Amino acid sequence: MGGQQFGTGTWLFDLRGHSSIRQFDARRGLVTVDAGIEWPALIAGCAALQSPDAATTWGIRQKQTSADRLTLGGALAANIHGRGLRLPPIVGDVEAFTLIGPDDLARSCSRDENADLFRLAIGGYGLFGVIAEVTLRLMPRLPVQRSVEILTLDELVRVPEERDTTDWLFGDFQYSIDENSPDFLQRGVFSAYRRCDEPPAELAAQRQLRESDWEELLWLAHTDRAKVWEVYSGFYRATHGQRYWSDTHQLSVYPDHDHTALDRRIGSPFPCSEMISELHVPRALLREFMGRAGDLLRSGETPVNSGTIRLIERDTETLLAWAREPWACIIFNLHCEHTPAGLARAAAAFRALIDLALALGGSYYLTYHRRANRTQVETADPRFREFLVEKKARDPGEIFSSDWYRHHRDLFAAP
Ligand SMILES: Cc1cc2nc3c(=O)[nH]c(=O)nc-3n(C[C@H](O)[C@H](O)[C@H](O)COP(=O)(O)OP(=O)(O)OC[C@H]3O[C@@H](n4cnc5c(N)ncnc54)[C@H](O)[C@@H]3O)c2cc1C
Repeated sequence: MGGQQFGTGTWLFDLRGHSSIRQFDARRGLVTVDAGIEWPALIAGCAALQSPDAATTWGIRQKQTSADRLTLGGALAANIHGRGLRLPPIVGDVEAFTLIGPDDLARSCSRDENADLFRLAIGGYGLFGVIAEVTLRLMPRLPVQRSVEILTLDELVRVPEERDTTDWLFGDFQYSIDENSPDFLQRGVFSAYRRCDEPPAELAAQRQLRESDWEELLWLAHTDRAKVWEVYSGFYRATHGQRYWSDTHQLSVYPDHDHTALDRRIGSPFPCSEMISELHVPRALLREFMGRAGDLLRSGETPVNSGTIRLIERDTETLLAWAREPWACIIFNLHCEHTPAGLARAAAAFRALIDLALALGGSYYLTYHRRANRTQVETADPRFREFLVEKKARDPGEIFSSDWYRHHRDLFAAP
């Protein structure tokens, strides 16, 4: 995604072997772990350290949706968001971490200690050092009940105002991708999770999408976008009322598919893939933005294969805060042919989407692709230049680097 995890001609530190749980503080709801731990091990490890009969049991607050095998260090580096209805990005869940800097020293970073590094390294895309250990704030682990509704965009943005978000904890909105329907990018399946009293049934007894179901949905998203909406919304409606735990419901299946199999099934003469982009707009302007995005994408030249919207609260802490407002965050997965013309079409669509968001006072997520021009980067992230200055001052030898960093450094160095 975008190149921040690649570094041509560099060494990669793969932290996945550094993945133990170091400390669990059941009184304060804190867990200290090695930064290479992935979400399934973290969630299971916390559960294993607690008695199910304890007055309060603790679980994670948020993780990325749709993929699980991602590390906690990677989550801090990208200052990720999940699908909380009242949560800022993960910086809000971080109590402290240890950072090994370019001078080879390990420093403890928190809001009180090395606070400047705390602000830089979270959302710093690995450029200020290696996050080695993290102390994460947990939340009481609660039973939640899934509620599934078809909503319009206006109804979606009113959710945090109209519903009690101490009860309605999580939710995301999967919008219609059928470019021939009036619902295109306008209506969606809102799956929300509300606190309940009764614990969930065994997962095996619940309706859930298996890997083969996801593959079929992916196939339909490429071949029959009216049908995919019908199948997807039908499945979700059938799961209305199912109960889950507040932490494990965030785990999901992500088919490690190789797009070549799909290309063959579709009969595409070219290799293809989905390309992701995330745009951020003020919530009051969501309908306006999606209407304009619909005008742009309705021709089907770069079909939308899937897309979701989340509501993320403001991050007031990191230097390169992407959640500068309580945004509506819109994900577009665009189908892209890997030919010069196909790549150019996708790049043009990404730039046009960024322009639409910027025109409404919005922004975009920096590291999913490198299609934005310099004006777009500066408008979307007014502190980007300062971020580069901090990087150069703290790591003059550029010991920590990536293709994404070099691209942006060079973009800003040009006259
Ligand atoms: C299928 C999929 C779904 C996703 N969904 C979401 C989502 O819902 N919300 C969201 O916010 N993001 C999402 N993402 C993006 C994802 O959160 C980021 O790409 C994240 O950084 C990946 O973590 P990783 O452990 O794989 O890190 P990598 O891909 O290995 O690295 C990503 C970046 O983090 C840095 N990094 C990794 N570990 C450390 C460390 N220990 N110390 C310092 N820097 C480090 C790397 O240098 C690099 O810049 C998704 C990604 C995928 C592939």
